[in-house]
Amino acid sequence: MTSSATAAATPEAMARYEAVIGLEVHVQLATATKIFCGCPTSFGAPPNTNVCPVCLGLPGALPVLSRAAVDLAIRGALALHCRVRPHSRFARKNYFYPDLPKGYQISQYDEPLAEGGHVDIAVEGAAKRIGVTRVHMEDDAGKSIHEGFADSDRYSYVDLNRCGTPLIEIVSEPDMRSSAEAYAYLTELKQALEFVQVSTCDMEKGHLRCDANVSVRPKGAEQLGTKAEVKNLNSFRFLKQALDYEIARQVALIESGGRVMQETRLYNPDTGETAAMRSKEQAHDYRYFPEPDLVPLEIGAAWRAEVKAAMPELPADKRARFIKEYGLREYDAQVLTATRAASEYYETAARVAGDPKTTAHWVMGELMGLLNAEGKQIAESPVRAENLGELVQRIGAGEISGKLAKEIFERMFSTGDAPSVIMEREGLKQISDAGELEGIIAEVLAGNPKQVEQYRGGKTTVINFLVGQAMRATRGQADVAAVTTLLKRKLRPEDLC
Ligand code: ADP
Ligand code: ZN
Ligand code: MG
Repeated sequence: MTSSATAAATPEAMARYEAVIGLEVHVQLATATKIFCGCPTSFGAPPNTNVCPVCLGLPGALPVLSRAAVDLAIRGALALHCRVRPHSRFARKNYFYPDLPKGYQISQYDEPLAEGGHVDIAVEGAAKRIGVTRVHMEDDAGKSIHEGFADSDRYSYVDLNRCGTPLIEIVSEPDMRSSAEAYAYLTELKQALEFVQVSTCDMEKGHLRCDANVSVRPKGAEQLGTKAEVKNLNSFRFLKQALDYEIARQVALIESGGRVMQETRLYNPDTGETAAMRSKEQAHDYRYFPEPDLVPLEIGAAWRAEVKAAMPELPADKRARFIKEYGLREYDAQVLTATRAASEYYETAARVAGDPKTTAHWVMGELMGLLNAEGKQIAESPVRAENLGELVQRIGAGEISGKLAKEIFERMFSTGDAPSVIMEREGLKQISDAGELEGIIAEVLAGNPKQVEQYRGGKTTVINFLVGQAMRATRGQADVAAVTTLLKRKLRPEDLC
């Protein structure tokens, strides 16, 4: 009835087809409590402790819609440039499953919260706009646990803590044409929702889950092919691998005279393959009907305006502002707005330093270099943004040389201390006092008679060597400009300008 995994298609066959992809993304809203009751949404609580009659679906319990959840759902919809409908309503999506005690999910069907948005992506420099069909609200189900218990070969357990956790589902248009475009879409979508704090989008905790609809058609064809829906894509890497596999499978199937079945397929990360889970004939008929226990959701202009006014800056806006306000290059602005944490770190450091360009240089160079080497995120940086700002400020004020700054920075990274603390403790101060430098310069000149002679003979570039010797003698603490001036004065007074 359903097709089994097929050998990969030849490159020639692949070149004759075009993939069509649409994503359905579920995002957990970052509210403290559930969507229809006051139970906490906290992760990791003991099983079946964050529950009440409402989220357990006990008879007679009535749902009350959380205003905070609607606020975040509207914010998410606006961040994806959707039109928020003035009137939407909830619907029951009926199905039986052990982790769904109500026997139905409360979702939205024919009148969703928002419609008609977009996400802009760029793949290999080519800009493209991906349509967002709709954003709707729904509650999450619980979790069946099939492994990890002594009797797991005979029993499955159910944890209902997650029941009633607020979600938005974001359905895209079938606008993507490759796994790379799907990857870029999910990246941009995640970034936008993270930035405006609609969700933490933590895939490992299941705060962002993605199903991919895939079909192929001969290049140039208008009509869409039959799609398969691929589930269990819980990382960006899996999304890409599953799509590449599924596209090749469909092409090979059609090329060998077969037909793609409309079905749900499960991605297996161990094999990198997708396998049929259920066909359309076995598909659920959800018997959607309007939720009788909830009044329709009316969102007037005032509510929309209120959410808009409280909306944090979107990544694209922040990027544009960094370029304009701080004079950053496009690439630098991109790196520094890659995550909300990075942009906040940078702006705090730049404010303290009073020099946004040099700060960008330090954040992207030294800081990110050391963080990457240790596999750390900027949120885990041992160097506080204020302290990096102080370092940059001191460099600008001429208190520390570039070389000394690097040394101080390394100590900041290993100890977490402020530059002032490290300089005080280790006596790492720049020496620019002529009296202090005189002795060192006299030593350098006495120790390098050959270079002194060369300089006097006209080979003035050896001054760099002599400056280097003075820096070495002071462990980089000497003020380069002061050393150069003093050396020249000693070597040939008329060189002074
Ligand atoms: P269903 O009725 O199976 O739920 P929808 O029309 O609601 O299908 O679309 C679900 C998702 O599948 C959307 O993201 C949409 O863009 C995508 N999609 C629809 N048709 C196709 C197709 N032929 N190929 C790939 N994706 C598709
Ligand atoms: Zn509850
Ligand atoms: Mg659908």
